[in-house]
Amino acid sequence: MDASPPSYADSPEGSFLWIYHSKIHNYQEEEDIDKEKENNEEELQLSDWFNPQKRPEVVTVTEWKAPVVWEGTYNRAILENYYAKQKITVGLTVFATGRYIEHYLEEFLTSANRYFMVGHKVIFYIMVDDVSRMPLIELGPLRSFKVFEIKSQKRWQDISMMRMKTIGDHIVAHIQHEVDFLFCMDVDQVFQDSFGVETLGQSVAQLQAWWYKADHDEFTYERRKESAAYIPFGQGDFYYHAAIFGGTPIQVLNITRECFKGILQDKGNDIEAEWHDESHLNKYFLLNKPTKILSPEYCWDYHIGLPSEIKIVKISWQTKEYNLVRNNV
Ligand code: UDP
Ligand code: MN
Repeated sequence: MDASPPSYADSPEGSFLWIYHSKIHNYQEEEDIDKEKENNEEELQLSDWFNPQKRPEVVTVTEWKAPVVWEGTYNRAILENYYAKQKITVGLTVFATGRYIEHYLEEFLTSANRYFMVGHKVIFYIMVDDVSRMPLIELGPLRSFKVFEIKSQKRWQDISMMRMKTIGDHIVAHIQHEVDFLFCMDVDQVFQDSFGVETLGQSVAQLQAWWYKADHDEFTYERRKESAAYIPFGQGDFYYHAAIFGGTPIQVLNITRECFKGILQDKGNDIEAEWHDESHLNKYFLLNKPTKILSPEYCWDYHIGLPSEIKIVKISWQTKEYNLVRNNV
């Protein structure tokens, strides 16, 4: 169950140095430092920051007792205080190839710079197929970015699915050493309001805006037995949106590896899941329950309208213009 951030949020090297230095100071200082360390390591309990009763009209706790974070259910001040002491760094991966660069990337990054994990260290991992077309972005303090050139794919389905492999490779190569938490997002969306530390957890899934009120048998899960993403009728918890997922680097590595395994297995069997990486992600989260779920306020489509339970939209979908941005439709 999530509530508690990972114990290694404080890097092992950092802790070692901390202790080493305390030894060369006087006894009183050593005691103070130890006390401070103890306080930092005290784990936050779910009930310290989360109150599901604040939103009685929506589902705020899952059957496996994970929080579904809706506006009003969390105490941001308590969380901010806790994570500021941890000195966390949060990563965010985003992909833009072909026309997605000019169409979406600048707005995504500009809005993320403004609203994503304000007050905390952030590293944007930007994957493009042509670095010379990277928009110029001026980032605020505590924000940095790393740009990587990736090979594009002919079909948009493969571009979308190959992200699972690329993210995994980058976590292994460097991201695991650079951040405490990692989010992976689609580029065709815009931050509208604060997307803060209340979203952090071991493994975090996003409710898909069009499906959060539907019954599990209506969900557009992959229903063919031949696919690795197969979910039979009668099963399933929620329909999760692949446009946002996250967690600790190790958990995200597991998510991306398992999804990519399923994608490769399907390729070998000449089948492609109905909603591509999203179908595999839904299968993954059925088998490995997320420790935290984000309400559709975190990834809202204004084309639905604005029902009363959507209090503050944190990210909104861009209008789908597939004919303009995709190579193959
Ligand atoms: N993408 C890309 N170039 C493409 C197609 C997809 O960069 O030609 C990336 C981009 O990050 C996009 C994500 O893959 O947000 C998923 O594709 P899309 O958003 O079109 O899928 P949808 O959200 O409509 O299912
Ligand atoms: Mn998208």
